[in-house]
Formats: sequence, structure tokens, C-alpha cells
Amino acid sequence: MESSHAENMMLRNNCGVSFLTFPSFSAFPFINHAFSTRVGGVSQAEFSSMNLSFGRGDAEENVMKNYRLFCNAAGFPFDSLTASAQDHHTVVRRVTKEDRGVGIYKPKDRASVDGLLTNEPGVTLVTYYADCVPLYFLDPVRRAIGLAHAGWRGTVAGMGQKMVEAMQREFGSDPRDLIAAVGPSIGPCCYEVDSPVADAFAAHPEWQPETLLKDCEAGKYMLDLWEANRRILCSAGVLPEHITVAKLCTRCHADWLYSHRASGGKRGGLAAFLCLKEDTICRT
Ligand SMILES: [Zn+2]
Repeated sequence: MESSHAENMMLRNNCGVSFLTFPSFSAFPFINHAFSTRVGGVSQAEFSSMNLSFGRGDAEENVMKNYRLFCNAAGFPFDSLTASAQDHHTVVRRVTKEDRGVGIYKPKDRASVDGLLTNEPGVTLVTYYADCVPLYFLDPVRRAIGLAHAGWRGTVAGMGQKMVEAMQREFGSDPRDLIAAVGPSIGPCCYEVDSPVADAFAAHPEWQPETLLKDCEAGKYMLDLWEANRRILCSAGVLPEHITVAKLCTRCHADWLYSHRASGGKRGGLAAFLCLKEDTICRT
């Protein structure tokens, strides 16, 4: 496997498939995690080539083939995948082995789920992206994981905080133990928003919104979703030294990462993956 640095992540290549990992998560041998790129799949045209989103117009057999190629290259058992049903809300669901296959090789059965969590080994959480912010969580003490999708709506609704609270409630996690990461997504360099979005953030003085928003005049602002999510995680009790921000902008790198903004919506989907490995169950 080849690898190189891409900002705060490692860019790896295995069997022709490129994917990104966080060194702070790779340090724990009992988990596996990855974030996909466009490189190494079978899809064509605007879906080229590692499209992991069903229902955007690509042939389903291509997406399924891409999942198999990705799982093989990045070390996830295909049968272990369970996917979210994202719609920009902050519903969080705890999943188990019963949920394996849902949203991939079994139908979606979740009305609205933007966040997934589990403490069962052998269940791979999957969430989808093309500019929105992926949030990764690991509690290495309780051996529990979480993965959440946060666009501007999810961010301003406190998805990061809701995931921390869910890990406390479900697994007894102490926020100070949590390792978190903010994945590849549209950066403050490229994320122009209008007044209603800016106003939604400005309504949260505790996040110091004046430093998250840059006024570009004419009712336009540049919004820093990376820093907003980092601050929200800190205020939920995650230690700053336990948070990695990828600082990898999907729009700046639309040649190898799908970007909704850069493509005008004609695009495939990236995916985040996170699991507790099945072969490291503690048998004491
Ligand atoms: Zn950018």
C-alpha cells in the first residue's frame, strides 16, 4: 500500500483505490476507518469513478461494484456495512449487527438518520458526502464509535454535540476520552452562503460567529464549517488536543473528491467508513 500526506490526513492507495485516513484514528489497532476519494471505481462521466451514492442516476450495479472494490482495498468486510439515511436533520441512531446491509444490499428502512453509533465489533458505519462535513468519533475506553453527517443545517443544529451526548447516554462515554475528527468537506476558502445561513450561525454567540463568518458584502458571507464544528465539539467537552480537522476542501480538490458546489449537483458521492474490528473482541 502506498501513502502520502494530504493536509492532516494520509492519502493511501491499494489495488488502484485511493482513500484517506486520520493518523489519530489509525493509532488504535482495534478500529478501521477511511474516507473515500473519486479514484479507483468503475463509474463513468460525472460519477467517475468511485461513486458510493445510490440514487443519483448512476447504475446501481456500478455503485455496488464500487463498494466491493473499496471494501477490498480499505479492509472492510462488505457484509458489515450499514448506511445512514441523511436528510440534514440531527437524528442519531444506535445500530447493531441486525442493521448490517441496510442501505447497501438491503433497503433503507430509516426515515431520517444523519448520525450512526455502535459498540458492536463487525458493524461498519457508512455516511455520504459531497461538501458536507463528516464527523468521526471514537471512545477508546468504552470501545464505541460514531459517525455523523453535518452540513450547515446539521452543524448549526448542534450535530457534534448531539453525537457526544448520544455516546454518553448509550455507552457511558466521558467526553474527555473521545477522539474526534472533522473530515474532508467544503472549506472556508469556498463556502459562500447568504444572509439566512449567516444569521443562523450569528444567533449562537457562544461559538464566536464573528470569526466563523467573513462578510463579502452584498449579503454574501464565507462560512467556516470546519471551525464551527471544532468549537461545537470543544463546548460539548471534547478536548482540543483530541480533535483533528482534515483541512481538505472538497471544492478545491474536485478533481479527486466529489463537490456538490463545483459540479452544480452533477456528481457522485464520497463516503466515510468506521468500524470496530471483529477479530479484536476482548475475551477475558
Ligand atoms: Zn476550497
